[in-house]
Amino acid sequence: MNRFKISLEKKTSRSYEVYVGREILDRAVLLIAKGNWAQRYFLLTDDNVASLHGERVADTFRQAKLPVETIVIPAGEQAKTMATAVAAAEEMLRRGADRTAGLIALGGGVVGDITGFVASIFMRGIPYVQLPTTLLAQVDSSIGGKTGVDLPAAKNMLGTFHQPKAVFAELSFLRTLPDREMSNGLAEIVKCAVIDDPGLLELLESQAEALRDTGATDVLMPVVTRAGEIKKKIVEIDEKEQGLRRILNFGHTIGHAVEAAAAYAIPHGEAVSIGMTGALLLSERLGHLPAAEGERIVALLNRMGLPVAIPAGLDGEAVMAKMEQDKKKAGGMVHFVLLKRPGMPFVNGGIPGERIREIIASLQTEHKEPRPRRDR
Ligand code: ADP
Ligand code: ZN
Repeated sequence: MNRFKISLEKKTSRSYEVYVGREILDRAVLLIAKGNWAQRYFLLTDDNVASLHGERVADTFRQAKLPVETIVIPAGEQAKTMATAVAAAEEMLRRGADRTAGLIALGGGVVGDITGFVASIFMRGIPYVQLPTTLLAQVDSSIGGKTGVDLPAAKNMLGTFHQPKAVFAELSFLRTLPDREMSNGLAEIVKCAVIDDPGLLELLESQAEALRDTGATDVLMPVVTRAGEIKKKIVEIDEKEQGLRRILNFGHTIGHAVEAAAAYAIPHGEAVSIGMTGALLLSERLGHLPAAEGERIVALLNRMGLPVAIPAGLDGEAVMAKMEQDKKKAGGMVHFVLLKRPGMPFVNGGIPGERIREIIASLQTEHKEPRPRRDR
Protein backbone atom coordinates (compact mmCIF):
# COMPACT_ATOMS: atom_id res chain seq x y z
CA MET A 1 0.00 0.00 0.00
CA ASN A 2 1.44 3.36 -1.01
CA ARG A 3 0.43 6.50 0.78
CA PHE A 4 1.01 10.21 0.70
CA LYS A 5 -0.27 13.09 2.73
CA ILE A 6 -2.13 16.21 1.60
CA SER A 7 -1.08 19.05 3.89
CA LEU A 8 -3.16 22.21 3.75
CA GLU A 9 -2.12 25.39 5.56
CA LYS A 10 0.11 23.33 7.84
CA LYS A 11 -3.02 22.71 9.89
CA THR A 12 -3.09 19.04 10.81
CA SER A 13 -6.87 19.05 11.19
CA ARG A 14 -7.31 19.71 7.48
CA SER A 15 -4.55 17.39 6.28
CA TYR A 16 -5.36 13.90 5.14
CA GLU A 17 -3.79 10.82 3.65
CA VAL A 18 -4.34 9.28 0.24
CA TYR A 19 -3.77 5.51 0.13
CA VAL A 20 -3.27 3.52 -3.07
CA GLY A 21 -3.15 -0.24 -3.18
CA ARG A 22 -4.61 -3.65 -4.04
CA GLU A 23 -6.96 -5.44 -1.68
CA ILE A 24 -6.70 -2.63 0.84
CA LEU A 25 -10.39 -2.50 1.78
CA ASP A 26 -9.93 -4.24 5.14
CA ARG A 27 -7.11 -1.93 6.12
CA ALA A 28 -9.06 1.09 4.84
CA VAL A 29 -12.00 0.33 7.09
CA LEU A 30 -9.71 -0.26 10.08
CA LEU A 31 -8.12 3.14 9.43
CA ILE A 32 -11.58 4.73 9.20
CA ALA A 33 -12.46 3.14 12.55
CA LYS A 34 -9.20 4.38 14.03
CA GLY A 35 -9.80 7.86 12.62
CA ASN A 36 -12.85 8.11 14.85
CA TRP A 37 -14.31 10.86 12.66
CA ALA A 38 -17.95 9.83 13.10
CA GLN A 39 -20.12 7.56 15.20
CA ARG A 40 -22.03 6.09 12.29
CA TYR A 41 -21.53 6.13 8.55
CA PHE A 42 -23.76 6.50 5.52
CA LEU A 43 -22.35 4.79 2.46
CA LEU A 44 -23.42 6.78 -0.59
CA THR A 45 -23.12 4.86 -3.84
CA ASP A 46 -24.80 4.53 -7.24
CA ASP A 47 -26.90 1.58 -8.38
CA ASN A 48 -24.14 0.08 -10.57
CA VAL A 49 -21.47 0.20 -7.91
CA ALA A 50 -23.93 -0.86 -5.20
CA SER A 51 -24.62 -4.14 -6.97
CA LEU A 52 -20.94 -4.77 -7.79
CA HIS A 53 -19.20 -3.76 -4.57
CA GLY A 54 -21.77 -2.36 -2.11
CA GLU A 55 -22.36 -5.49 -0.06
CA ARG A 56 -18.70 -6.28 0.35
CA VAL A 57 -17.89 -2.77 1.53
CA ALA A 58 -20.83 -2.65 3.96
CA ASP A 59 -19.84 -6.08 5.32
CA THR A 60 -16.29 -4.92 5.89
CA PHE A 61 -17.62 -2.00 7.96
CA ARG A 62 -19.79 -4.35 9.98
CA GLN A 63 -16.88 -6.68 10.64
CA ALA A 64 -14.98 -3.71 12.03
CA LYS A 65 -18.01 -2.94 14.22
CA LEU A 66 -18.59 0.37 12.47
CA PRO A 67 -22.31 1.18 12.09
CA VAL A 68 -23.05 1.68 8.38
CA GLU A 69 -26.15 2.18 6.23
CA THR A 70 -26.28 2.41 2.46
CA ILE A 71 -27.99 5.09 0.38
CA VAL A 72 -28.17 4.36 -3.35
CA ILE A 73 -28.51 7.05 -6.02
CA PRO A 74 -29.00 6.46 -9.76
CA ALA A 75 -25.78 6.03 -11.79
CA GLY A 76 -24.67 8.66 -14.27
CA GLU A 77 -24.11 12.37 -14.63
CA GLN A 78 -27.88 13.01 -14.93
CA ALA A 79 -28.19 12.18 -11.24
CA LYS A 80 -25.61 14.78 -10.20
CA THR A 81 -28.25 17.30 -9.21
CA MET A 82 -29.42 19.34 -6.28
CA ALA A 83 -32.50 17.10 -6.18
CA THR A 84 -30.35 14.00 -5.61
CA ALA A 85 -28.32 15.79 -2.94
CA VAL A 86 -31.48 16.91 -1.14
CA ALA A 87 -33.01 13.43 -1.39
CA ALA A 88 -29.87 11.88 0.13
CA ALA A 89 -29.84 14.43 2.97
CA GLU A 90 -33.52 13.82 3.65
CA GLU A 91 -32.92 10.08 3.72
CA MET A 92 -30.10 10.56 6.24
CA LEU A 93 -32.35 12.70 8.42
CA ARG A 94 -35.14 10.14 8.20
CA ARG A 95 -32.72 7.54 9.49
CA GLY A 96 -31.80 9.75 12.40
CA ALA A 97 -28.48 11.23 11.25
CA ASP A 98 -27.08 14.12 13.25
CA ARG A 99 -23.77 15.92 13.45
CA THR A 100 -22.01 12.77 14.61
CA ALA A 101 -22.68 11.04 11.28
CA GLY A 102 -20.13 10.70 8.51
CA LEU A 103 -20.40 9.91 4.80
CA ILE A 104 -18.49 7.45 2.65
CA ALA A 105 -18.38 8.06 -1.11
CA LEU A 106 -18.26 4.67 -2.88
CA GLY A 107 -18.23 5.29 -6.62
CA GLY A 108 -16.89 7.38 -9.47
CA GLY A 109 -16.64 11.13 -9.79
CA VAL A 110 -20.39 11.64 -9.67
CA VAL A 111 -20.80 9.87 -6.34
CA GLY A 112 -17.65 11.53 -4.98
CA ASP A 113 -18.73 15.05 -5.90
CA ILE A 114 -22.25 14.66 -4.62
CA THR A 115 -21.18 12.97 -1.38
CA GLY A 116 -18.64 15.71 -0.69
CA PHE A 117 -21.30 18.29 -1.42
CA VAL A 118 -23.84 16.75 0.97
CA ALA A 119 -21.11 16.33 3.61
CA SER A 120 -20.18 19.99 3.30
CA ILE A 121 -23.70 21.31 3.89
CA PHE A 122 -25.43 18.67 6.04
CA MET A 123 -25.84 20.38 9.44
CA ARG A 124 -23.18 22.85 8.26
CA GLY A 125 -20.66 20.15 7.54
CA ILE A 126 -19.88 16.57 8.55
CA PRO A 127 -16.82 14.43 7.75
CA TYR A 128 -16.55 12.20 4.71
CA VAL A 129 -14.17 9.65 3.21
CA GLN A 130 -13.56 8.90 -0.45
CA LEU A 131 -13.52 5.30 -1.74
CA PRO A 132 -13.18 6.05 -5.47
CA THR A 133 -14.06 3.14 -7.79
CA THR A 134 -13.19 4.57 -11.22
CA LEU A 135 -9.67 5.27 -12.43
CA LEU A 136 -10.71 8.86 -13.15
CA ALA A 137 -11.90 9.38 -9.59
CA GLN A 138 -8.86 7.64 -8.09
CA VAL A 139 -6.35 9.93 -9.76
CA ASP A 140 -8.37 13.09 -10.07
CA SER A 141 -11.74 13.97 -8.58
CA SER A 142 -11.35 12.27 -5.19
CA ILE A 143 -8.29 14.36 -4.37
CA GLY A 144 -8.51 18.08 -3.70
CA GLY A 145 -11.83 18.64 -1.98
CA LYS A 146 -13.86 20.05 -4.85
CA THR A 147 -17.51 19.06 -4.48
CA GLY A 148 -20.62 19.93 -6.43
CA VAL A 149 -23.71 19.24 -8.46
CA ASP A 150 -24.79 20.29 -11.94
CA LEU A 151 -27.47 22.73 -13.05
CA PRO A 152 -29.28 22.07 -16.34
CA ALA A 153 -27.34 24.96 -17.91
CA ALA A 154 -23.85 23.92 -16.81
CA LYS A 155 -21.86 21.29 -14.94
CA ASN A 156 -20.59 21.79 -11.39
CA MET A 157 -22.39 25.11 -11.00
CA LEU A 158 -23.24 24.64 -7.33
CA GLY A 159 -20.40 23.45 -5.17
CA THR A 160 -18.06 23.88 -2.25
CA PHE A 161 -14.53 23.10 -1.19
CA HIS A 162 -14.67 20.43 1.51
CA GLN A 163 -11.67 18.18 2.05
CA PRO A 164 -12.25 14.48 2.87
CA LYS A 165 -10.78 12.87 5.97
CA ALA A 166 -9.02 10.26 3.84
CA VAL A 167 -8.95 8.83 0.31
CA PHE A 168 -8.52 5.11 -0.34
CA ALA A 169 -7.84 4.19 -3.96
CA GLU A 170 -8.56 0.45 -3.91
CA LEU A 171 -7.23 -0.73 -7.28
CA SER A 172 -9.16 -4.00 -7.03
CA PHE A 173 -12.40 -2.04 -7.55
CA LEU A 174 -11.22 -1.34 -11.11
CA ARG A 175 -11.54 -5.00 -12.14
CA THR A 176 -15.20 -4.45 -12.96
CA LEU A 177 -14.70 -1.15 -14.77
CA PRO A 178 -15.72 -1.02 -18.47
CA ASP A 179 -12.85 -0.46 -20.98
CA ARG A 180 -14.10 2.94 -21.97
CA GLU A 181 -14.08 4.12 -18.35
CA MET A 182 -10.52 2.86 -18.05
CA SER A 183 -9.36 4.94 -21.04
CA ASN A 184 -11.18 7.90 -19.56
CA GLY A 185 -9.07 7.77 -16.43
CA LEU A 186 -5.89 7.26 -18.45
CA ALA A 187 -6.52 10.62 -20.14
CA GLU A 188 -6.19 12.49 -16.85
CA ILE A 189 -3.09 10.44 -16.02
CA VAL A 190 -1.49 11.46 -19.33
CA LYS A 191 -2.39 15.05 -18.45
CA CYS A 192 -0.59 14.80 -15.09
CA ALA A 193 2.48 13.32 -16.77
CA VAL A 194 2.53 15.97 -19.49
CA ILE A 195 2.25 18.94 -17.13
CA ASP A 196 4.54 17.69 -14.42
CA ASP A 197 6.43 14.47 -14.85
CA PRO A 198 8.43 13.44 -17.94
CA GLY A 199 9.45 10.25 -16.11
CA LEU A 200 5.82 9.23 -15.69
CA LEU A 201 5.27 10.00 -19.37
CA GLU A 202 8.01 7.52 -20.27
CA LEU A 203 6.50 4.93 -17.95
CA LEU A 204 3.11 5.40 -19.63
CA GLU A 205 4.72 5.03 -23.06
CA SER A 206 6.39 1.79 -22.03
CA GLN A 207 3.08 0.32 -20.78
CA ALA A 208 0.32 2.04 -22.71
CA GLU A 209 -1.47 -1.19 -23.70
CA ALA A 210 -0.96 -2.99 -20.39
CA LEU A 211 -2.48 -0.08 -18.52
CA ARG A 212 -5.79 -0.58 -20.30
CA ASP A 213 -6.17 -3.94 -18.58
CA THR A 214 -8.33 -3.33 -15.51
CA GLY A 215 -6.79 -6.30 -13.74
CA ALA A 216 -3.19 -5.12 -14.17
CA THR A 217 -3.04 -3.70 -10.66
CA ASP A 218 0.73 -4.14 -10.45
CA VAL A 219 1.22 -1.91 -13.49
CA LEU A 220 -1.39 0.53 -12.26
CA MET A 221 -0.03 0.88 -8.75
CA PRO A 222 2.97 3.16 -9.46
CA VAL A 223 1.05 5.07 -12.13
CA VAL A 224 -1.99 5.85 -9.94
CA THR A 225 0.32 6.77 -7.08
CA ARG A 226 2.41 9.16 -9.19
CA ALA A 227 -0.63 10.82 -10.77
CA GLY A 228 -2.23 11.28 -7.35
CA GLU A 229 0.97 12.78 -5.99
CA ILE A 230 1.05 15.30 -8.82
CA LYS A 231 -2.52 16.36 -8.12
CA LYS A 232 -1.66 16.53 -4.41
CA LYS A 233 1.33 18.75 -4.99
CA ILE A 234 -0.65 21.22 -7.04
CA VAL A 235 -3.64 21.23 -4.67
CA GLU A 236 -1.37 21.88 -1.70
CA ILE A 237 0.12 24.93 -3.32
CA ASP A 238 -3.18 26.27 -4.60
CA GLU A 239 -6.17 24.79 -2.79
CA LYS A 240 -8.82 27.11 -4.19
CA GLU A 241 -7.67 27.24 -7.81
CA GLN A 242 -6.42 30.80 -7.98
CA GLY A 243 -3.16 30.24 -9.79
CA LEU A 244 -1.09 27.12 -10.19
CA ARG A 245 -4.06 24.76 -10.00
CA ARG A 246 -5.01 26.15 -13.40
CA ILE A 247 -2.36 24.02 -15.05
CA LEU A 248 -4.52 21.02 -14.15
CA ASN A 249 -6.82 22.41 -16.83
CA PHE A 250 -4.40 21.35 -19.55
CA GLY A 251 -6.62 20.04 -22.36
CA HIS A 252 -9.75 21.23 -20.59
CA THR A 253 -10.42 24.51 -22.43
CA ILE A 254 -11.28 22.75 -25.67
CA GLY A 255 -12.24 19.62 -23.73
CA HIS A 256 -15.04 21.30 -21.82
CA ALA A 257 -16.33 22.91 -25.03
CA VAL A 258 -16.34 19.52 -26.79
CA GLU A 259 -18.21 17.92 -23.90
CA ALA A 260 -20.80 20.69 -23.79
CA ALA A 261 -21.22 20.84 -27.58
CA ALA A 262 -21.84 17.08 -27.56
CA ALA A 263 -24.41 17.53 -24.77
CA TYR A 264 -22.15 15.35 -22.58
CA ALA A 265 -22.50 12.33 -24.87
CA ILE A 266 -18.67 12.32 -24.97
CA PRO A 267 -17.17 11.25 -21.62
CA HIS A 268 -14.90 13.68 -19.80
CA GLY A 269 -11.62 11.83 -20.36
CA GLU A 270 -12.25 11.46 -24.09
CA ALA A 271 -13.08 15.15 -24.37
CA VAL A 272 -9.91 16.02 -22.46
CA SER A 273 -7.92 13.81 -24.83
CA ILE A 274 -9.27 15.77 -27.79
CA GLY A 275 -8.60 18.99 -25.88
CA MET A 276 -5.01 17.99 -25.10
CA THR A 277 -4.44 17.24 -28.78
CA GLY A 278 -5.72 20.76 -29.53
CA ALA A 279 -3.54 22.37 -26.86
CA LEU A 280 -0.49 20.51 -28.21
CA LEU A 281 -1.22 21.63 -31.77
CA LEU A 282 -1.64 25.20 -30.57
CA SER A 283 1.62 25.00 -28.64
CA GLU A 284 3.36 23.73 -31.78
CA ARG A 285 1.88 26.35 -34.09
CA LEU A 286 2.74 29.20 -31.74
CA GLY A 287 6.31 27.95 -31.78
CA HIS A 288 6.51 26.86 -28.16
CA LEU A 289 6.66 23.08 -28.58
CA PRO A 290 8.73 20.94 -30.97
CA ALA A 291 6.32 19.04 -33.25
CA ALA A 292 7.90 15.70 -32.37
CA GLU A 293 7.05 16.17 -28.68
CA GLY A 294 3.42 16.88 -29.48
CA GLU A 295 3.18 13.91 -31.84
CA ARG A 296 4.66 11.66 -29.22
CA ILE A 297 1.90 12.52 -26.74
CA VAL A 298 -0.84 12.21 -29.35
CA ALA A 299 0.51 8.76 -30.26
CA LEU A 300 0.30 7.75 -26.60
CA LEU A 301 -3.34 8.89 -26.37
CA ASN A 302 -4.08 6.86 -29.47
CA ARG A 303 -2.53 3.73 -28.02
CA MET A 304 -4.66 4.16 -24.92
CA GLY A 305 -7.81 4.02 -27.00
CA LEU A 306 -8.52 7.73 -26.65
CA PRO A 307 -9.86 9.98 -29.43
CA VAL A 308 -7.53 12.68 -30.77
CA ALA A 309 -9.97 14.36 -33.14
CA ILE A 310 -13.44 15.85 -32.90
CA PRO A 311 -15.84 13.03 -33.86
CA ALA A 312 -17.45 13.30 -37.29
CA GLY A 313 -20.95 13.97 -35.98
CA LEU A 314 -19.88 17.00 -33.97
CA ASP A 315 -19.83 20.46 -35.54
CA GLY A 316 -16.68 22.52 -35.00
CA GLU A 317 -18.76 25.69 -34.93
CA ALA A 318 -20.74 24.34 -31.99
CA VAL A 319 -17.45 23.75 -30.16
CA MET A 320 -16.35 27.32 -30.98
CA ALA A 321 -19.67 28.66 -29.70
CA LYS A 322 -19.23 26.87 -26.36
CA MET A 323 -15.74 28.33 -26.02
CA GLU A 324 -17.17 31.82 -26.66
CA GLN A 325 -19.68 31.21 -23.87
CA ASP A 326 -16.93 30.14 -21.49
CA LYS A 327 -14.96 33.21 -22.50
CA LYS A 328 -17.82 35.51 -21.50
CA LYS A 329 -18.12 33.76 -18.16
CA ALA A 330 -14.40 34.15 -17.55
CA GLY A 331 -14.53 37.89 -18.23
CA GLY A 332 -13.50 37.94 -21.88
CA MET A 333 -10.43 35.73 -21.69
CA VAL A 334 -9.96 32.16 -22.81
CA HIS A 335 -7.17 30.64 -20.77
CA PHE A 336 -5.14 28.00 -22.53
CA VAL A 337 -2.61 25.86 -20.79
CA LEU A 338 0.17 25.42 -23.34
CA LEU A 339 3.34 23.39 -23.29
CA LYS A 340 7.02 24.17 -23.88
CA ARG A 341 8.00 20.58 -23.32
CA PRO A 342 6.74 17.79 -21.06
CA GLY A 343 6.85 19.07 -17.50
CA MET A 344 6.86 22.73 -18.59
CA PRO A 345 3.32 24.05 -18.99
CA PHE A 346 2.32 27.71 -18.92
CA VAL A 347 -0.95 29.62 -19.02
CA ASN A 348 -1.75 31.94 -21.92
CA GLY A 349 -4.81 34.15 -21.73
CA GLY A 350 -4.40 36.06 -24.97
CA ILE A 351 -4.86 33.65 -27.87
CA PRO A 352 -6.67 35.29 -30.81
CA GLY A 353 -10.01 33.70 -31.73
CA GLU A 354 -8.74 33.06 -35.25
CA ARG A 355 -5.96 30.85 -33.97
CA ILE A 356 -8.41 28.83 -31.91
CA ARG A 357 -10.70 28.44 -34.92
CA GLU A 358 -7.79 27.04 -36.94
CA ILE A 359 -7.06 24.50 -34.25
CA ILE A 360 -10.68 23.39 -34.07
CA ALA A 361 -10.66 22.99 -37.86
CA SER A 362 -7.47 20.89 -37.66
CA LEU A 363 -8.99 18.73 -34.96
CA GLN A 364 -11.78 17.93 -37.35
CA THR A 365 -9.53 16.92 -40.19
CA GLU A 366 -5.87 16.35 -39.36
CA HIS A 367 -6.13 13.53 -36.88
CA LYS A 368 -9.19 11.75 -38.15
CA GLU A 369 -7.37 8.55 -38.90
CA PRO A 370 -5.67 7.02 -35.90
CA ARG A 371 -1.96 7.55 -36.27
CA PRO A 372 -0.04 4.36 -36.91
CA ARG A 373 1.38 2.65 -33.90
CA ARG A 374 5.10 3.25 -34.01
CA ASP A 375 6.50 1.04 -31.38
CA ARG A 376 4.94 -2.36 -31.40
P1 ADP B 1 -16.36 9.28 -13.44
O1 ADP B 1 -15.95 8.71 -14.74
O2 ADP B 1 -16.32 10.75 -13.36
O3 ADP B 1 -15.65 8.67 -12.29
P2 ADP B 1 -19.09 8.24 -12.83
O4 ADP B 1 -19.18 8.44 -11.37
O5 ADP B 1 -20.26 8.68 -13.63
O6 ADP B 1 -17.90 9.02 -13.45
O7 ADP B 1 -18.80 6.72 -13.15
C1 ADP B 1 -18.85 6.25 -14.46
C2 ADP B 1 -19.69 4.98 -14.57
O8 ADP B 1 -18.94 3.88 -14.09
C3 ADP B 1 -20.96 4.99 -13.78
O9 ADP B 1 -21.96 4.39 -14.56
C4 ADP B 1 -20.65 4.14 -12.58
O10 ADP B 1 -21.79 3.52 -12.05
C5 ADP B 1 -19.69 3.14 -13.15
N1 ADP B 1 -18.72 2.59 -12.21
C6 ADP B 1 -18.06 3.23 -11.22
N2 ADP B 1 -17.18 2.43 -10.63
C7 ADP B 1 -17.27 1.22 -11.22
C8 ADP B 1 -16.61 -0.02 -11.06
N3 ADP B 1 -15.62 -0.19 -10.19
N4 ADP B 1 -16.99 -1.04 -11.87
C9 ADP B 1 -17.95 -0.87 -12.81
N5 ADP B 1 -18.60 0.26 -13.02
C10 ADP B 1 -18.27 1.32 -12.24
ZN1 ZN C 1 -10.68 16.68 -15.90
